[in-house]
Amino acid sequence: MEYDVIIIGAGLAGLSAGKGLNENGVRYKIIEANSRPGGKVYSREYTGRYFELGGQFINQDMTEMTRLVKDAGMEIHETDVTEDAVIIDERKNTDVESILKADKKLFKGIGERDIRLSRLYEKYIADSYHRKLISSQHSELLNINPELISSKAIAAMMDRYISSKSDTTHQASGPLNNVVSYLERFSKDKIMYGQPVAEIAESKDGYIILSSNNEYRSKAVILAIPPTAASQITYTPGLPEKIENALKSFKDGAVIKITWVFEEAFWRSFSVQNEVHRLKEIIYSEPEGITVSDSSKSGDENRLTMFIGGDTAIKLADKTIDERLEYAVSLLTEVLGEKARYYIDREESVWVNAPYTGGGYSASVLYTGIFNAAQILRQPYKKLLFSSSELSPDFPKFMEGAVRSGKHTAKKALELLK
Ligand SMILES: Cc1cc2nc3c(=O)[nH]c(=O)nc-3n(C[C@H](O)[C@H](O)[C@H](O)COP(=O)(O)OP(=O)(O)OC[C@H]3O[C@@H](n4cnc5c(N)ncnc54)[C@H](O)[C@@H]3O)c2cc1C
Repeated sequence: MEYDVIIIGAGLAGLSAGKGLNENGVRYKIIEANSRPGGKVYSREYTGRYFELGGQFINQDMTEMTRLVKDAGMEIHETDVTEDAVIIDERKNTDVESILKADKKLFKGIGERDIRLSRLYEKYIADSYHRKLISSQHSELLNINPELISSKAIAAMMDRYISSKSDTTHQASGPLNNVVSYLERFSKDKIMYGQPVAEIAESKDGYIILSSNNEYRSKAVILAIPPTAASQITYTPGLPEKIENALKSFKDGAVIKITWVFEEAFWRSFSVQNEVHRLKEIIYSEPEGITVSDSSKSGDENRLTMFIGGDTAIKLADKTIDERLEYAVSLLTEVLGEKARYYIDREESVWVNAPYTGGGYSASVLYTGIFNAAQILRQPYKKLLFSSSELSPDFPKFMEGAVRSGKHTAKKALELLK
C-alpha cells in the first residue's frame, strides 16, 4: 500500500505531525525505532509516585504544551519556587543570579564571524570565576562543552525562545506519559514500533522507506527525529550538499538527570552568609555542567533535581549507578549538609549516547558547522521534510518546540501534497 505521508519518529514532533495529518484525513503511518512513543518525554510511574525521566517543565507562554496537558486530562501546576528564592554556587555566595544574567549581554557581542561559545566568554567576561560559572551553566543547558559550540547558532536559538518567563515556572499535575498517550490515540493503529528506519530511497513517484524489517512507500516523508539521527539515515540518491552539511552541523548533547524526594524541604530556609534564604537552584562551577533545582510542585512532594550535562555527564555515564548516585549525593551534601543524605526516594535517567533520541535535551550546532543549519532544514527538500524540537521556529530545544515543529511540518506536507 502506498501512503500519502510516512512520519519517522513517534516523539512529540512525530505524534503532533500525526495528529495534524489525522485531522485532515491523510493516509499516513508513523515508523518508530523504539518500543514506546514519546522519545525524550518519558515518565516512570510507580504506585502513588512518578518521576519524569526526560522533559518536565513548561511555562504558560508554551501554549501548545499547556493545551495538551489540559486535553490529556491534567492541570498546570506551579513549580514551588518563590520570587525571592536565590541561586547559589557551591561556595555559597548569594546573588550568582546577577552573574548568570550577564549571558544575555554576552550574545550582543557576536559579530559577523562565528566564534566558539567559550571564546565569547574569554572576549567579554573579565572575571575568571564568572567565566567559569557561565561556562558551567551553558554546559548544563546545552549538554555540550561550550568549546565545541557555535555562538551564533546559540544566539539564534535564544532569539527563538519567545517568552520573557523562565522555562521552569510550571509542570503538569500528572505524568507527561498522559500527554504522549493522548497524542498516540490519534494515530493508534498507524504507529509501527521497534522499526528503526535505515534508508530512504527516492522512487519514480515518491519514496521507499526501509526500516529494519519492512518497506513502506509514500508520496512524502516527515523525518520527525533529531538532526543527528537524520544524518545516520542513508538517502538514495544522496541529499544536496547544503542539506547534508546542515544535518552534520549538529552534535548530540549528554545529560544525566537525578531526582530525590525528601520528607522535609530543608533548602527553603537555608543560611547563606548569615542570612536565611530560600534556594531555587545551586550551580556548581566545579565540576562543570552541574545544577540542582527545587523541582517540587506547589502542595506536592519536596523534590530536588540534579542535571549533569556535557563532559561531566559523559564521564559519569561509564560509572555504576551506585558510584554515580554516591557522587551526586556527595555534591548535594557539600552545599546542603548531611540532611541531603536522608532522602525517601530517588530516580535517575542517563541519556548519554541514547540511540535515536540523542544523548541530551537536544542537539546543538557545532562551531565547525553551519550556524543557520536549523533554518536550512526547516525548508522541505522535494517532499522530504525535517521536523524536531531543534528545528522549531519557536521554543527550539523544548517540548513546546517539538509540538510546534510537528504541527507546522504536517501543514507544509499537506500543502506539498495538493
Ligand atoms: C533529561 C531531559 C530533560 C528535559 N527537560 C525538559 C524540560 O523540562 N522542558 C522541556 O520543554 N524540554 C525538556 N527536555 C527536552 C524535550 O524533552 C525535547 O525537546 C523533546 O521531547 C524532543 O521531541 P522530538 O520529538 O523533537 O524528539 P525525540 O523526543 O528525540 O523523538 C524522536 C523519536 O524518533 C525516534 N527515532 C529516531 N531515529 C529514528 C529512526 N531512524 N527510525 C525510527 N525512529 C527513529 C526516536 O526513537 C524518538 O522516539 C528534556 C530532555 C531531556 C532528555
